Amino acid sequence: MEKILEKIKNYNQILLYRHIHPDLDAFGSQLGMYWMLKTMFPQKNIVLQGEMNSDLLRLYPSFDIAHINKEPSLAIVLDTANQERIDGDISQCNEVIKIDHHIVVDSYGDINIEIETASSCSEIVSLIFKKLKFQIPIESANALYLGIVGDSNRFLYSSTSIHTFEAASYLIESGIQIEELYQSLYLKKKSDLKITQFIYNTYQEDEGVAWYYLSSEDLKKLNISREQGSNYVNTLANIEEYPIWMAVTQNEAENNYRVSIRSRSITINEVAQLFHGGGHAYASGATLQSLDELYLLVEKLKEKINERKI
Ligand code: AMP
Repeated sequence: MEKILEKIKNYNQILLYRHIHPDLDAFGSQLGMYWMLKTMFPQKNIVLQGEMNSDLLRLYPSFDIAHINKEPSLAIVLDTANQERIDGDISQCNEVIKIDHHIVVDSYGDINIEIETASSCSEIVSLIFKKLKFQIPIESANALYLGIVGDSNRFLYSSTSIHTFEAASYLIESGIQIEELYQSLYLKKKSDLKITQFIYNTYQEDEGVAWYYLSSEDLKKLNISREQGSNYVNTLANIEEYPIWMAVTQNEAENNYRVSIRSRSITINEVAQLFHGGGHAYASGATLQSLDELYLLVEKLKEKINERKI
């Protein structure tokens, strides 16, 4: 941990990266680090990297996007398993620190803090701050707490450990209002009912795998973005007959189909890797070039279910 602090102290310019298609943990760890560094080192140029157009950004206070100066810089890459998934270009940086909790496939940092058993990258970042005895600013604590809540599904997944609660307790000590955070996250609109209604009416199933599909036309009709379309994946969770469930959304801009795969005690990340994806044992993402590939994906997932039965 002291190694990280030393590196941070050595650079006047720090670029903070996270993965493409950012979720609560990607933003939580990136923004949690951002507000901490801005508070601790107000004289340094702290630059957020990556597209900043997600609707999740409504959950955070506004922040500055600083310009990159022509001076040596340190990259801190959060929650990103492999270089291809980094939202931005780290080649412009002199040194790289990777902090991540995904299955290790690419240790691209000069320093790699990879804790596969952590519930979230936000958990790791919180515990680094705790260990370094940092006084955490409230914006940072809020973002990190949302990151932990997002990736552990509110402390529900088996990745939740004593360390997750240790991190949560450190963040709560800073004075965050968790009820307000939960409301900002979980309060729904009437329009959400229409979306879940559509999903329940149209979802498909094949021997233990359930999924819903939202075409660009459906997304337009429901008035949601592609990213929001994936966020309903757990509408199909907790059904005894479906140990694996998925959200499939058409990505018109990239001319492909994004799949969010979730499971109950069946390892799915190896299957996701076969379809330009990856992630965690029970929560992975993949990309299909055409809908024909969906059939192949479902077949592979069914094999995983059947392996368990043998
Ligand atoms: P998603 O369904 O997109 O929310 O992804 C579920 C989890 O898998 C998240 O932690 C993602 O960061 C991770 N993930 C998604 N796609 C990939 C990929 N291509 N490679 C590695 N991890 C991924």
